[in-house]
Amino acid sequence: MKKVIIVLLGVAIVIGGYLIYDQTRFKIDDIVLEFNDIKEIEYGESIDPLSLIKTCSGEVTYQEAPNTNQVGKHEITFVVKEKGLTKQFTYEIEVKDTKAPEIVMTKEKDTLTYGSTFDPQKYIKSVKDPVDGDIEYKKDVKDNDVNYYTYQSDVNTKVPKDYTVQYIAVDKNNNKTEKSLKITVQKQEKEPQTTPSKPNTSSSTYTANPNNKVIVIDPGHQGKGNSAKEAVGPGSSTMKAKVAGGATGVSSRKPESQITLDIGLKLRNELQARGYTVIMTRTSQNVNISNQQRAQVGNKNNAAAVIHLHCDGGASSARGAHTIAIGKDNPYCPQLYKASSSLAQKVISSYTSLTGIKSRGVSYRNDLTGLNWSEVPAIYIEMGFISNSEEDKLLTDSSFQNKCAKGIANGIDQYFK
Ligand SMILES: [Zn+2]
Repeated sequence: MKKVIIVLLGVAIVIGGYLIYDQTRFKIDDIVLEFNDIKEIEYGESIDPLSLIKTCSGEVTYQEAPNTNQVGKHEITFVVKEKGLTKQFTYEIEVKDTKAPEIVMTKEKDTLTYGSTFDPQKYIKSVKDPVDGDIEYKKDVKDNDVNYYTYQSDVNTKVPKDYTVQYIAVDKNNNKTEKSLKITVQKQEKEPQTTPSKPNTSSSTYTANPNNKVIVIDPGHQGKGNSAKEAVGPGSSTMKAKVAGGATGVSSRKPESQITLDIGLKLRNELQARGYTVIMTRTSQNVNISNQQRAQVGNKNNAAAVIHLHCDGGASSARGAHTIAIGKDNPYCPQLYKASSSLAQKVISSYTSLTGIKSRGVSYRNDLTGLNWSEVPAIYIEMGFISNSEEDKLLTDSSFQNKCAKGIANGIDQYFK
């Protein structure tokens, strides 16, 4: 019996000793790592994972810093070493892109003149994401597109009113920024009523010199238009393209500039044969002569008459020819009204009777650069509509072009009678 008690006592001592030993021994659960309360981090910002730790009982290392250029949840694994034991901790942090892209405009509102060109891109200084940098323009945006900017505009500079143009930038993570631009399109400017600063003051009516037989022919347009601007008349602040592009034959596909040149050269031959001295403003497509410079050709040569050749463009059903002279109230060269008007009437009547093209009579306009700068009688003749396939076929036909030349020459003869 005594033996048994001794054995039991021995067992009890061993167990008790183990329990005491076990309580003082360092265990894995004794490794402690506490985190700061940081749950989110901004897209693209750098982070030191150790800064997430509040306290740690041992020596801590981490396996990999999160890639903050990727939004969403990231897990960071920390390893703590203490007294020969290691323990892993994971911590979840979310990368969020809360910063929207930035649109910097050059202006927030602008006023445009009637008919001027509107370029929405002109008002953009920069579009940038604070992390990813420049954002590119995209024209056609689809539903799932990101990382672009675009704009919505219905500005029509031929419809005077107030417009709002909306610019939208979307970054890689779908953050959106919008900016708007206010555009006011002005009403069409009336022809200047006030006396131009450099007027052609000669109020006495132009009188023709009967011995002057110099005719300047200006085949309208040229191979390539020139959209640079020039004043529509001496002293005017109204600006127009130096040379417009011109119409194109609906079936011939010939540019107006080629048709006017072809007829112009035939008219030159016709007039020379009738004893006139002819000066051409151009004999080739490959020139760059503004409408003002074309008027100067007439002035410098003291022409008795200047004929600007053109073809009309418009609805496919539109047809007929007309001549154009300055109006009675032209502010630049009113002294030429009578002579120009007479020239315009003679030319349209002889042209249409010889060619059979319908007459639309004489128009009077004060907005044509080629006429306003003239110091000698000058007219435009719109020889027919090349937007009308029938008239396009006629005006591009060589033998018909000879008729056109003869018809115009007959009118010039009439004018001198
Ligand atoms: Zn034209």
